[in-house]
Amino acid sequence: MSALAIDVGGTSFKVAIVADGQILIQDRLSHTSEPGDLDRLTEFCNGLMDRVDPDQRPTTVGMSLPGIIDQRTGAMVSAHDKVGYMLGMDLRTWMSDTFGMPAAVENDARAALWGEVGYGAGRGEKDILVLTFGTGIGVAALVDGKALHGPHEHGAILGGHQQINPFLGRICTCGARGCLEAEACGWSMPAVVREWPGIEASPLGTLDKATFSDVASQAYAGDPLALEITEHCARVWGVGIVNLVHVLDPDVVVLSGGLMNAADLMIDTIRKEVDERIWAIWGRPRIEVAADVYASATLGMAYLAEHATA
Ligand SMILES: [Zn+2]
Repeated sequence: MSALAIDVGGTSFKVAIVADGQILIQDRLSHTSEPGDLDRLTEFCNGLMDRVDPDQRPTTVGMSLPGIIDQRTGAMVSAHDKVGYMLGMDLRTWMSDTFGMPAAVENDARAALWGEVGYGAGRGEKDILVLTFGTGIGVAALVDGKALHGPHEHGAILGGHQQINPFLGRICTCGARGCLEAEACGWSMPAVVREWPGIEASPLGTLDKATFSDVASQAYAGDPLALEITEHCARVWGVGIVNLVHVLDPDVVVLSGGLMNAADLMIDTIRKEVDERIWAIWGRPRIEVAADVYASATLGMAYLAEHATA
């Protein structure tokens, strides 16, 4: 049994066929944020399914998106502009009609949570927190064995918008000031670098729009200012994790998403920051990095497609 997993990102669709937690095949399609993208996506998925053996052909399909999904209707009800053209659309019915199989749809951070619960660092656990670090910061939680949704589907997933620097921080995409994302994540990194004191002494100072990947490369090369910035990110994220742990009381915290490709630069500082700030009488939650930081949502969507549609 295999599942077709579609992860919708701002600039690309990542499509995979997954069986028992293993990615059999995967490919990317550009995402131009126009309604015609869904026809191209359909053709692309059908092409990918034709490339696996008939006995490995998917029997379920799942889609993860950077937005809030109403599970009663299968529609995305709030999202970033780049997927705005899908707002209000019943994506679950669209997928089951288009591909002729049972379908599941979920927020991408919650999909990553299921990837870690089903196949990753959260296997066998009942209380897990997952943070995904990419363009933004996604958060999802399993509480007492159940994914936290809340009555409005907001449960945990807006954790990237916890306000950790509310009076002096940078303005966030959500309109508030000093959100975790605004202090350190993919979209805010060019501003973080540009405003960093003394940055002109670093190769990063010559870049128009330095990405996190630029910062990590320079940090690996030993640039002191890049190392200061990765240290800043790690400390800020440690604070964000402590705030979430104080609310949700998990046993395990899993860090995933593309920015965690550079986790070895930051994980010790993240753990130290959590250790120094946390109030926990029982010990400390395990803080782990996903085995494949790019695959959590894909694996999770396959897991959900197989379990939620069974
Ligand atoms: Zn915000």
